[in-house]
Amino acid sequence: MSKFIKLYNGYTIPTIGLGTYKSKPCEVEEAVKYSIDIGYRHIDCAWFYANEKEIGEALRAKIVEGVVKREELFITTKLWNNFHDKENVVPMLKESLKYLQLEYVDLFLIHWPFGFKEDADGLPTDGAASYSDVDYLETWEGMEDCLKSNLTRSIGVSNFNKDQLNRLFNNCEIKPAVLQVEVNPNINQKDLIQFCKERNIVVVGFSPLGRGSLSTTVSDYPLATILDDKIVGMAKKYNKTPAQVVLRYLISLGICVIPKSVTKSRILENFDIHDFELEKKDTEYLDSCNKNERVARMAPYKDHKHYPF
Ligand code: NDP
Repeated sequence: MSKFIKLYNGYTIPTIGLGTYKSKPCEVEEAVKYSIDIGYRHIDCAWFYANEKEIGEALRAKIVEGVVKREELFITTKLWNNFHDKENVVPMLKESLKYLQLEYVDLFLIHWPFGFKEDADGLPTDGAASYSDVDYLETWEGMEDCLKSNLTRSIGVSNFNKDQLNRLFNNCEIKPAVLQVEVNPNINQKDLIQFCKERNIVVVGFSPLGRGSLSTTVSDYPLATILDDKIVGMAKKYNKTPAQVVLRYLISLGICVIPKSVTKSRILENFDIHDFELEKKDTEYLDSCNKNERVARMAPYKDHKHYPF
């Protein structure tokens, strides 16, 4: 199984990246430094996660120490929903770049297809009064400007459904290189992955572990499959952990994964998945876990005209 996937524009993206959502500023710097020390080269960030400054410190430290060169890293960031007006896109990427202490990112994504008014809260609670109906095709023109200004090497989208992606694909000057969506055994997205393959779009799967034990504390999250007894048993057979079995299954779908952890042993474990193969019957069991249930729903915004699910 390859450790990289080639994007249509010739750049390559490492199959395993480190997620950073909900990694607290005090924890994320150490997590990113450690991940680079042990070989991660792909870090998934977002302006919305409010921790890019600490990630920037970690990246700078590892570059200055000589552990890694800038060009060996693959750094993603995302445009938040308050900034979908075309003229906001370049300035928002410049802000992320300032925090990350970088001159360019490798991938810039539209985080969600729906927008909020610029002065609304990041996750507004007053319903339609905070919605902006800017069309994501307009936002995409701003993304193309970022690429033309060499502020990013590739552009893509996140949480777009098939129709939205298709509409974008057929109405843009520069094609999206990546779709980032939730992929784990509870929602394996095989159909969407195939649709993307046919268009040379690489899928990056977020929440690959289904948020782990957090899934037991939030009532509307499906139970993470790393807690499924059969998968726990399977992992023992391979002398691996349930997370390693699930991540191995996901990369066999031809996608990248970005498990989040701030725990050193888990950061290490999640990267160590290339030395075993799943038996056919185990792959079939993992396939059978699919029930199209997601953790990242953004349900409060389902009446937004660009809500994707
Ligand atoms: P994950 O499925 O990666 O689960 C993270 C949780 O699992 C954390 O609580 C972590 O705990 C725990 N964990 C990590 N490794 C293991 C392991 N080996 N065994 C057991 N538990 C483990 O969920 P996320 O939602 O964080 O998704 C990953 C990344 O995807 C995000 O961090 C973000 O970068 C991106 N993302 C993008 C979204 C988008 O809209 N584009 C939406 C959601 C996520 P601990 O840290 O304490 O070790």
